[in-house]
Amino acid sequence: MQLYDSARRGVFPLEIGPVATLYSCGITPYEAAHLGHAFVYLTFDVLTRRLTDAGHEARCVRNVTDVDDDILRVARERGVDFLELASEQVRRFDHDMAGIGLLPVDAAPRATEHVEEMVDWIARLVDDGYAYSVNGWVFFDSGAYPDYGRLSHLDHPTMIELSRGRGADPDDPRKRHPLDFVLWQASAAGEPSWPSPWGPGRPGWHIECTVMSTGALGHPIDIHGGGDDLIYPHHESEIAQAEAGGVAPYVRHWTHVAMVNLDGVKMSKSLGNLVFVRDLVARVPGAAVRLLLAAHHYRQSWSYDDAELEVAATRHRRYLSAMQGGGAIGHEAARRHEERFFDRLDDDLDTPGALQELDAIAQELSSGTQEDGPGTEGQQLLGRLMTVLGAETEAVPG
Ligand SMILES: [Zn+2]
Repeated sequence: MQLYDSARRGVFPLEIGPVATLYSCGITPYEAAHLGHAFVYLTFDVLTRRLTDAGHEARCVRNVTDVDDDILRVARERGVDFLELASEQVRRFDHDMAGIGLLPVDAAPRATEHVEEMVDWIARLVDDGYAYSVNGWVFFDSGAYPDYGRLSHLDHPTMIELSRGRGADPDDPRKRHPLDFVLWQASAAGEPSWPSPWGPGRPGWHIECTVMSTGALGHPIDIHGGGDDLIYPHHESEIAQAEAGGVAPYVRHWTHVAMVNLDGVKMSKSLGNLVFVRDLVARVPGAAVRLLLAAHHYRQSWSYDDAELEVAATRHRRYLSAMQGGGAIGHEAARRHEERFFDRLDDDLDTPGALQELDAIAQELSSGTQEDGPGTEGQQLLGRLMTVLGAETEAVPG
């Protein structure tokens, strides 16, 4: 199988052993899962299913960022404990993802349960001259790590400009360099805090993933990724902390999934233009939602519209009726379809191409000779290939 690697900016063979390790950056649990989340996690799910089908044991980890400014704000607004809010949102997220047939991950570490390891890691960076503390805060010293920018291929002025819109303040006078980022922050009054050598506080977002990914999976991690809006600064910073902390190479293969838009604009909480997974699953089977997502290549951003959901639902019905009907296709034709299906999937996870093969099988089954009813080779093949795409699953009721 070959897959695009964001760091090398090209499609490269996946070089993995019998056990494949995958880490996808998980949610900050304060909002319902929207189609953008589903597109990212479905991509990792199909990748996992394909690797498993090819004989690998896949170990998948997806973290939960259960302490950050947004969770604390929403918890305050609703008058609930932030961990209660996070747990409730994680339960909903898991339910929504099960509704579109996502396999459970092997581990879903929560940031608040690993703060001690994060403190140890940060202390090591400070000792080794890669980080410095100012009044209870600790910053990563990007000047001490010349490779900063290697993943995103961005120059410093561009990164500085981007960081401004992505939660960082390059003009913070405490920073030695505008690209330095927060490893540890002093908690404000009323905020949760953990003890550290720099005073009570909480970890920065980037260090959480470096610590939890290597803690759960060791290193190098075979495939690490998430939405492509995480390339900079999140993953860029993860690499810097990992390598400066003595973990190199950190990741073999970086996989990033394009954004889903609504009317041409990226879906985001701040704009309020979200399409929620649970609303779609209430209208069509979960497998049809998967077919909607799989009809788009993971590196191509796209715009959701209702008509396309109908197309996916029709496609799903067509597959089911081909599987239940009495049509048959020949052994040679089935073998060719199977080969082409996996060729498409193994070429940078070309799910739209793989769906075309399923369309062709369903078409031939529907117009083929009548043989001995359901259970013929063509129907078994269609069922098996749908399972590789995870599209056999029905929506979870409720
Ligand atoms: Zn992450």
